[in-house]
Amino acid sequence: MTGPSPKDWINAIHPYVPGKSATGSGARAAKLSSNENPLGTSEKARAAFAAQAAGLERYPDGGATALREAIAKRHGLDPARIIYGTGSDEVLHQAAGAFSGPGDEVIYVRYGFAVYDIAIRRVGATPVIVPDKDYATDVDAVLAAVTDRTRIVFIANPNNPTSTFTPRDEIARLHAGLPEHVLLVLDQAYAEYLEADEDDGGLALAMSAPNVLVTRTFSKIFGLAAERIGWGYAAAPIIDAMHRIRLPFNVTIAGQHAAIAALGDEDFVNRSRAHNAKWRAWLTAEIDKMGNAGLRAIKSKANFLLVLFNGTITAEQAYNELMARGYIVRWLPGQGLANGLRISIGTEEETRGFAAALRDIVGEAA
Ligand SMILES: *Cc1c(COP(=O)(O)O)cnc(C)c1O
Repeated sequence: MTGPSPKDWINAIHPYVPGKSATGSGARAAKLSSNENPLGTSEKARAAFAAQAAGLERYPDGGATALREAIAKRHGLDPARIIYGTGSDEVLHQAAGAFSGPGDEVIYVRYGFAVYDIAIRRVGATPVIVPDKDYATDVDAVLAAVTDRTRIVFIANPNNPTSTFTPRDEIARLHAGLPEHVLLVLDQAYAEYLEADEDDGGLALAMSAPNVLVTRTFSKIFGLAAERIGWGYAAAPIIDAMHRIRLPFNVTIAGQHAAIAALGDEDFVNRSRAHNAKWRAWLTAEIDKMGNAGLRAIKSKANFLLVLFNGTITAEQAYNELMARGYIVRWLPGQGLANGLRISIGTEEETRGFAAALRDIVGEAA
């Protein structure tokens, strides 16, 4: 018997591989594999979430009105031009689905976010992967790849898994070089980890340009990864097209209320950013000390480090040894980074413990 055949382009998808949550031995482990907030979640968001347990029989507000208004107020945006999704992953899928299909090309940079390739192939479009520049976005390479068939360019800024940042003038140059029929998606999942003067100008571009979509998430600095809430901002016709394929009621009611409360808790966000900056700098310096063992940390602007292993110890060996010691990190062979480990910045205890374990593994003296 032969069952239904998936589309060829569906068969070409490599399924997303999430970070591991357990070591397999059952021992308590530090999960540094998914870029979650080590400080947890704002208590205000937690309380707002819990308060929604009384109305589980009701559908949520499918228009996410209060959430859009809160986001608009926080960033000075037009609430009518905010789209929302089950995580910003859904918003990325909405963009690919509304603006590309079979015969179309969609560009992303090598070592770009893993979801882009899936979102592109899912709708039958063709991914065009352009070279990076020392793990960062190469604007010239992106512009050189644009053809009449290009429909979308996906850029994560900062990028995951490389942690690199494309500054404002480069984003402006990229946008200026794109034809207006090409949608520039600026995925700012880690934007809140940047300092105020590091704004890449994406939201300002999305306010004025007809072809820029900025996406954000509540999963990272806001500590609401479990609830799956993301949003996007673009010109009205872009948002209108995305709404046509958005699943009805795609953001839960508890998630909407938790996100509104999280937006209002600036103290939690500021503490999270400061914690990250401090321990990211500390861990980067620790990795630098392991340079003679062939380790190199890419300069990070996010809440994780990409560490390259070019010495005798391989990334795979380090990954397995770290796992055995209770530190779960992300090894990325599926993304062409078989020599790289991505390590989320954890609590102080986790970060110190991770560094000590890694030092031990690579045989460096403390
Ligand atoms: C984590 C992440 C996202 C989205 O996560 P959601 O939980 O789906 O909102 C999007 N882009 C990048 C680059 C990420 O790292």
